[in-house]
Amino acid sequence: MPRDDYEVVIGLEVHAELSTKTKIFCSCETEFGGEPNTHCCPVCMAMPGALPVLNEKVLEYAVKAGLAMNSSISRDSKNDRKNYFYPDLPKSYQISQFDKPLCEHGYVEIVKPDGEKKKIGITRIHIEEDAGKLNHDDYGRGSLVDLNRAGVPLIEIVSEPDMRSVEEADIYLKKIKSILEYIEVSDCKMQEGSLRADVNISVRKKGQKEFGTRTEMKNMNSFKSISRALEYEIERQIDVIENGGIIEQETLRWDEVSGKTFSMRDKEDAQDYRYFPEPDLVPIRLSEEYIENIRKNLPELPETRKQRYINEYKLTEKEANTLTASKYLSDFFEKGTQISKNPKAVCNWLLSDVARILNEKELEPEDMPFTPDNLAELIGLIEKGTISSKIAKDVLEVMFEDPKEPSKIIEEKGWVQISDESAIKEIVLKIISENPQSVSDFKNGKDKALGFLVGQAMKATKGKANPQMLNTMFKELM
Ligand code: ADP
Ligand code: ZN
Ligand code: MG
Repeated sequence: MPRDDYEVVIGLEVHAELSTKTKIFCSCETEFGGEPNTHCCPVCMAMPGALPVLNEKVLEYAVKAGLAMNSSISRDSKNDRKNYFYPDLPKSYQISQFDKPLCEHGYVEIVKPDGEKKKIGITRIHIEEDAGKLNHDDYGRGSLVDLNRAGVPLIEIVSEPDMRSVEEADIYLKKIKSILEYIEVSDCKMQEGSLRADVNISVRKKGQKEFGTRTEMKNMNSFKSISRALEYEIERQIDVIENGGIIEQETLRWDEVSGKTFSMRDKEDAQDYRYFPEPDLVPIRLSEEYIENIRKNLPELPETRKQRYINEYKLTEKEANTLTASKYLSDFFEKGTQISKNPKAVCNWLLSDVARILNEKELEPEDMPFTPDNLAELIGLIEKGTISSKIAKDVLEVMFEDPKEPSKIIEEKGWVQISDESAIKEIVLKIISENPQSVSDFKNGKDKALGFLVGQAMKATKGKANPQMLNTMFKELM
């Protein structure tokens, strides 16, 4: 059966570390890194008799996320113990939420490249604590435990199995990241593990009602690996089925180097977490007033901001969509626009040349080494005719390597545009005398010849001549 006859089903469980100052059940700091085991206390190290106290900020942040993702917020909720044994979990249970999560029945809307919109259901969002970290000794003598991360607050956002392609999963995860950034509840630094996803995937024949058996890849923290892993897994699952095999429900490990998935355990012995209500914490009761207050104070979300860009700055839907997808990029755009008063130009630079360079260097918008002021100044220099837009592109390249004011770069490199009339005239006369054929072509009505001559003049001046002035001068002198 051809591959087109299969449909892909994907569901994501996204873990986001909340950017509260202190941990979820103690007052240790949540700061990433630090000397191992320095952000710890008897509570997060699970000393006998130490008791947890719920950090109220965690509730506030989780409710914020729930509201931003259109969920209903439970007035009655509680914490549960999820029991499992692993050396990064000193209590041998994780305090999480089982049957009464804080948020349920939400959705987020994704926009596909062709403009089609789709709602992805969010089953639940619950709060829980992060585990510590194992540092495996390079010499194979053992593993070292670092409990700095133990007790850092997390929300887990569980999606419905609503995604039907790798692209949808990618857009969905980016949307989740963007919402969390806008409401400022997580820094979403994927390379530091602040945002990571368990990726569930199955395939089924088109028209088949029941879902196929899924496999799961845990703790993925890069968009690229998630897409690669999903592509691989789709092919693998279809191959197995086409060859008469069956998919086993199991946890797989994605190996970045070989580009393959591997079984983590021989057979998934369905884990029994023996959940029960956490006896050391009181149930969570939220008043209407508390929830309404958070709802009222929600900041502008990507969707609203996008509409504002379309109305206020006359950007296209596509431009507005791309800019607002990243809060950082969109904040950058607004600051740049405030200074340059030219939203269209700031948008064009960010979405074309800046985006291209970021992409080449595999950087995120957050990694732009220059400021919105710098970009605004660059645009101003083109507007004033100090540099051509061609030279501006070179200036931008330098801004990535050696970030400083564009005017300084231009001065140092001697890139100021030639706008001096006599200088332009001199160049034009030289090019005319060197290209008699093109001159006579132009005189015989071949407009193309003018473009060629201007091009020659630009070449001769290494792109520094003012193109408008060249145009006029050529016409005048020919
Ligand atoms: P857990 O992994 O903790 O057992 P669930 O059974 O609730 O939790 O499922 C977890 C995730 O797997 C959810 O995001 C859900 O959408 C997704 N999922 C469930 N069934 C399938 C399936 N057949 N194919 C793909 N994803 C699925
Ligand atoms: Zn602590
Ligand atoms: Mg799971």
